[in-house]
Formats: sequence, structure tokens, C-alpha cells
Amino acid sequence: MSDQADIKGGSETHSFEAEVSRLLHLMVHAVYSNKEIFLRELVSNAADACEKLRHESLTNSDLVKDDPTFQITLSADGADGTLSVLDNGIGMSKAELIENLGTIAKSGTRAFLDQLAKEEGDGSALIGQFGIGFYSAFMVADRVDVISRRAGEAEAWKWSSNGEGAYELSVASEEEALPRGTKIVMHLKDDEKTFADAVTIRRIVRDYSSHVPVPIRMLTKNEE
Ligand code: ADP
Ligand code: MG
Repeated sequence: MSDQADIKGGSETHSFEAEVSRLLHLMVHAVYSNKEIFLRELVSNAADACEKLRHESLTNSDLVKDDPTFQITLSADGADGTLSVLDNGIGMSKAELIENLGTIAKSGTRAFLDQLAKEEGDGSALIGQFGIGFYSAFMVADRVDVISRRAGEAEAWKWSSNGEGAYELSVASEEEALPRGTKIVMHLKDDEKTFADAVTIRRIVRDYSSHVPVPIRMLTKNEE
């Protein structure tokens, strides 16, 4: 069960809810050709997080006083083979990481699984028809780290998983954590390194995320 943690050396191992494991298995092995939609999902979550904080800040302006301008940052590192999506939105507490990234709390994902149970095949054809959300990062990454600090909270947390049954949770170091919000680091699969390429990323953002109401900036390391 997702709420039973195995604690070793400051890091807790939590099992995914069985339905999440099913979904992740599908993502990890997807032969779906349009994998780039993962970025639309992560950018949309980042924008939602900014909107949630904007809303909370209407009654608690202290939450944004250190950093009043919402933004989303995409950071590609070709040498490391990573792509990161950062936002200075609401962030997630430890309990929210467990609830949001370990269970099927959302109707969209459940609808996908219900449909999958009815159809033949491996589900690849269905991926594009549903909002698969955060878990779609595992189509392109063999490890995903989520480092998050809930606005107004002192502690930041790191969630990390290879998508195979379990995830680890630990307190994030100050060096890796943002002052507020969420950083998602995708360690790209060997055959998906194109998603650390700035030209590719810019094109995907243009194609799928042009309507997003939060400014998106791009940082690149090792860009040729
Ligand atoms: P959905 O966006 O449809 O709710 P997702 O799978 O995309 O589903 O995300 C699951 C949940 O995880 C979100 O509802 C949100 O609570 C949380 N979440 C995901 N990404 C972020 C983020 N960048 N900042 C804050 N919360 C997030
Ligand atoms: Mg989403």
C-alpha cells in the first residue's frame, strides 16, 4: 500500500498504488509514437500550480512576496541527458507528493484505465486520447525526480522513481530545492535524448503549449 513506508537512511520507500503501477508499466513500455505530449502535461501542471498559488495569494500575499512573478523554466542539459521543468507555483508538501504522485486520485487517469480494460492491445493507441498527466514523463525518462517546496513551508521534499513499483521520498537539500515550487528532473532514456535538445524543446512548446498563461523560458547547457 502506498502509505506503508520502508525507512532507510533518511529515505522512505513507498509502493505505488496497484493501478499506478499498471499505468507506469504501460508508460515505461509504450510504443506510442507521439511521446512528446509528456511536455504538454508537465507544462500544464506547472501552469496550474502557478494559478493555484496566485489564487491562494489573494488572501495570503506573504506567500508570493519574495518572488511575485510566476514563471515556468525548461532546462535542458545535453551532457547529463536531463530535461527539467521548474515552476514557482504552489509546490507540494510531503503528504501532497504521496497523494498526487502515488495514487490514481484523478478522474482522467481512471477513465484511461477503464477504457484500457475494455480494449485490445497495449493501450498505446489510447494514450493520445486521454490526459495521462504527470505519469507520461515515464515515456521518455527512466528516472524522474520531483523536488518540491510548498509555498510558505520550510522543508522541501524529493520524490524519485524509476517507475517500477515504488518511489523514494527524502528531505531535499537546500542546493537542489527551489525557494518555492516544483522542479521535475527527467533522466532521459538512452533513445530519448533528443528531448534534451533545445531546438526540439522549443518546437514542442510552440506546438502544444503556446496558450499557457504563464511565461515559459528556456535554459540550455551544452547547447551547440
Ligand atoms: P491532473 O493535472 O489532471 O490533476 P496530473 O497527473 O497531471 O493530473 O497531476 C497530478 C497532480 O499532481 C496534480 O493534480 C497536482 O495536484 C500535482 N502536481 C503535478 N505537477 C505539479 C506541479 N508542478 N506543482 C504542484 N503540483 C503538481
Ligand atoms: Mg496535469
